[in-house]
Amino acid sequence: MLVFRGIQKTTLIDFPGRVACTLFLPGCDFRCPFCYNITLVLGQETGVEITEKEALDFLQGRKGFLDGVCITGGEPLLHSGLLGFCKKAHALGLLVKLDTNGSMPEELERLIKEKAVDYIAMDIKAPPEKYSEAAGAKVDIAKIKRSARLIMESGIDYEFRTTVVPALHSEADLLEIGEWLKGARRFFLQQFNPNVPLLGRSLEGSRTYSEAELQGFAEKLRKFFKHAEVRAGA
Ligand code: SF4
Repeated sequence: MLVFRGIQKTTLIDFPGRVACTLFLPGCDFRCPFCYNITLVLGQETGVEITEKEALDFLQGRKGFLDGVCITGGEPLLHSGLLGFCKKAHALGLLVKLDTNGSMPEELERLIKEKAVDYIAMDIKAPPEKYSEAAGAKVDIAKIKRSARLIMESGIDYEFRTTVVPALHSEADLLEIGEWLKGARRFFLQQFNPNVPLLGRSLEGSRTYSEAELQGFAEKLRKFFKHAEVRAGA
């Protein structure tokens, strides 16, 4: 049984084109220095504890108002109860969106095969050779590549997104991501927020790319993706 450590009762942003509720699961196998979900990632007390039953009761009570539920983290695939929860959300008539860092392709494949998710958003931290640096952890890049390929071939709606940090990503890095994932349906560049506490303290207060610079990157990435856009906030 899942225990969620955060909830956003209504969001018009997290699940594209849908009115959704976002539920947060604790723990993550990455330590991205630009991550601001510190307590959640480190499994510390968030002050919120929502059992699976409480979450389902809440969703049931909002039937007719919500289109879907977005499950985020942390890394949701670390939780073995995720598949069962997705099925219960479907039984309530809700669509399910999953946010993932792509480090667990076997678990991801199970969700895809069972048709347990309707939209997948996978973070792309960096081009392959810089992945571990950007993720703040030793990453098995073969697993990341496998997850990205699974998603692209799944037939399920999806997006890839990169939080763009000047200290980690050059324009050449972003174009390399484009080469790697070319043909993908949707790619978002997300602005990095250095004005909040971050896992990597040295990035706090550091510079960001300007809106114009991000738009310039998106323009250059449009040759690789059907849609490449800038999204505010990370
Ligand atoms: S940004 Fe990185 S550390 Fe934070 S939740 Fe996502 S994958 Fe984990």
